Amino acid sequence: MTTMPGKGFSRDSRPEPALPGVEPLLRVGISQPAASLRFFLSGRYQVGDSTIGPGWCTAHAEYPHAAVLWDYTECRTAQPTLLAPLRPACSFTLPCVDVGAGFHWCHREDLVYTGTLELLPTQRNEIIAVNRIGLEEYLESVISSEMNPEAPSAFLEAHAVVARSWALSQLGPPRQVDEPRPAGIDIWEWFDRGNHELFDLCADDHCQRYHGQTRKVSHAVDAVRRTRGTVLRAGDAVVDTRFSKCCGGITELFTTAWGGPSPAGISSVVDAACLASPWSPRGTEETGASEWILGRPPVECAVEDSSILARILLPMDRSTTDFFRWSEEYSQERLASLIEEKTCAGIGHIRGLLPLRRGPSGRIEILEIRGTKGVLRVGKELSIRRLLSPTHLKSSAFVTADEDHSNGVPRKLRLMGAGWGHGVGMCQIGAGVMAARGAECRAILNRYFPEATAGLWY
Ligand SMILES: [Zn+2]
Ligand SMILES: [Zn+2]
Repeated sequence: MTTMPGKGFSRDSRPEPALPGVEPLLRVGISQPAASLRFFLSGRYQVGDSTIGPGWCTAHAEYPHAAVLWDYTECRTAQPTLLAPLRPACSFTLPCVDVGAGFHWCHREDLVYTGTLELLPTQRNEIIAVNRIGLEEYLESVISSEMNPEAPSAFLEAHAVVARSWALSQLGPPRQVDEPRPAGIDIWEWFDRGNHELFDLCADDHCQRYHGQTRKVSHAVDAVRRTRGTVLRAGDAVVDTRFSKCCGGITELFTTAWGGPSPAGISSVVDAACLASPWSPRGTEETGASEWILGRPPVECAVEDSSILARILLPMDRSTTDFFRWSEEYSQERLASLIEEKTCAGIGHIRGLLPLRRGPSGRIEILEIRGTKGVLRVGKELSIRRLLSPTHLKSSAFVTADEDHSNGVPRKLRLMGAGWGHGVGMCQIGAGVMAARGAECRAILNRYFPEATAGLWY
């Protein structure tokens, strides 16, 4: 295995041992299931024995087949229905795609893709667009789509290695998750790759943002090409790397967000060069968590310099400025009706929110919601974030203040929180700040994955 040199990725001249893998072809789900799918072909595509395009097409499902209509001609093929470009430069456009579905930055965009378009029918006679594309070309778009592609090179290189490792680890057999619901917990759920049965990955924030050719930028493409085939490994396996926008000062354990034990090579670290772990979660002891979340420790992602953030974040993410420490205020009526709408639990007015288990970043894994008519216990972190917001709370690392009590029921509750996202693995803002301050790719990877080794996989 070739280890990563200190600067850039130039390799020495010694003969290299056989590499363990080959570049895979991915199947990425790029549209939601719908009764029909409209798309535009820029160029000619092969469908079965026919060639179609350029122009608008409509596809629909006749399970188990799909049919595509172009220029008054309907093509039906045996499964799978593939539209293969006759030239590499051919592209297809999906109009008005929901980007960031379910998140506060959700909007619609026309997205342009290269590679093969697979029209996938579902048993409900709906159709899904799937893009068949090589991992490296997929990454060129992901790295352009996830953060500002004009960000410092070392950050984009580190991001490419992390995104490549994650995607490769998703292609293996699903993790064996054996984590029964703890006694007394009412809602116990997490959301991981098990959600995709029909394709490998989706194109939105649930997996990694993959917006096709639409935002591809040469600076990001170069970072992917310089790290081609490089992954993070723990022993013989590719690390199931994760990343989120802002850890809040300490990265979170895998198991706080998802089921089962943490995979090898990913742990919790403080997002600073010299800051020992400032607190440790102990049962329901809240003092340490409260001091941490309400404080402003000198960590990498505690950045306020807007010029650094402008270099790292995409314009659509820049509107969120309170990612390191944030607060949300609820009236009693609003919070109680939100919880009732989402759970139908009938617990009445909300007396308080009590964390029963936190991870090392302060993220709550199990939350007890005390109501006037009952108690609801919820896990894990994403369920808590969804339950307490019309969309998602920025994170589950929060402490609560309540005021204006009447018969033990507060009229107002304020959540004061830390970080943005699940907090597991690489902190994107922290990594971007490290690079902006001169850190190299290797130092960034060592910060967030100190137990892993970078090397070539193919
Ligand atoms: Zn997904
Ligand atoms: Zn961080």
